[in-house]
Amino acid sequence: MKTLGYAAQSADSPLTPFAFERRALRPNDVAMEVLYTGICHTDLHQARNDWGWSKYPIVPGHGIVGRVTGVGHEVTRYKVGDHVAVGCMVDSCQQCDQCRRGEEQLCRKGNTQTYNDRDRITCEPTYGGYSKHLVVREEFALRVPDGLDLSKTAPLLCAGITTYSPLRTWNVGPGSRVGVVGLGGLGHMAVKLAAGLGADVTVMSRSRDKEADALALGADRLLVSSDAAAMAEAANGFDLIIDTVPVKHDINPYLPLLDVDGTLVLVGQVGPLAEPSTVPLLLGRRRIAGSPIGGIAETQEMLDFCARKNILPDCEMIRMDEINGAFERLERADVRYRFVIDMASLSAPADA
Ligand SMILES: [Zn+2]
Ligand SMILES: [Zn+2]
Repeated sequence: MKTLGYAAQSADSPLTPFAFERRALRPNDVAMEVLYTGICHTDLHQARNDWGWSKYPIVPGHGIVGRVTGVGHEVTRYKVGDHVAVGCMVDSCQQCDQCRRGEEQLCRKGNTQTYNDRDRITCEPTYGGYSKHLVVREEFALRVPDGLDLSKTAPLLCAGITTYSPLRTWNVGPGSRVGVVGLGGLGHMAVKLAAGLGADVTVMSRSRDKEADALALGADRLLVSSDAAAMAEAANGFDLIIDTVPVKHDINPYLPLLDVDGTLVLVGQVGPLAEPSTVPLLLGRRRIAGSPIGGIAETQEMLDFCARKNILPDCEMIRMDEINGAFERLERADVRYRFVIDMASLSAPADA
């Protein structure tokens, strides 16, 4: 199937239109017309080869909402016309202990990423959601529950599950004391989801500038991390702190805020951190952890939870040809809180 997308051809080229083929349907494949795709900081990093493993051309996009246009003959879960979503992975081995537990993101053989990866069968490059069409095996398509606003659902597949998974891993519920560091795309979802689960939510920020936003998103308060007295008073007061800051930073100020057995979980920064002190870890039996996205079953649970609670990201809609400007704004953190591309703004080559 011929389709059209937007691709980076090298680390320093802007994204431009790119015509390519999607594979013919395998028996367990679902084909979809892409309706909306979220823009994530990862897209920018991969397009520019910031992590050193980009292979060009790259068609980014791993928060995808579409309408099913065709199904292979073994597909049982979906039919033409269904609304489906695809996140950061499109395949895994399906055999190992982690896959059997529904933790495909932790597959022992590595999951297959939605873009900048290789198909497990043909070794062809995977291309993401900055495109008109997508083909994916049915196990990695999620069902978009009725009632969820399709135009705002795409970021849930990345920022949503990345923050929902640690909340569930550490059993957050009514009475849990949750801190959120960083109030960007990930942080704003962490606040909404933690509040939706009934937790007491504190946003931690260097200044009071974001207080009104934090409260509007559902936080109970904002703690100013540069205020030494306020930080001392907040010591031992948190069960879980979700750190969404996407750049190298110092986590030491946050560790004493954790209660005994409390955990600070990193979901934003990929790479080195400023040196952490073990003193608060040893003395309080506190933990530092990391967490990637979630498994497929947990991602479906998150979508269903968001539909039930009417939790959606705050989005700004753009056209496909505005992508390079959006990347520049993303670099300056100038978006509240996630860009979504309206894929109807991109015409298929057959229509041109
Ligand atoms: Zn992402
Ligand atoms: Zn596996």
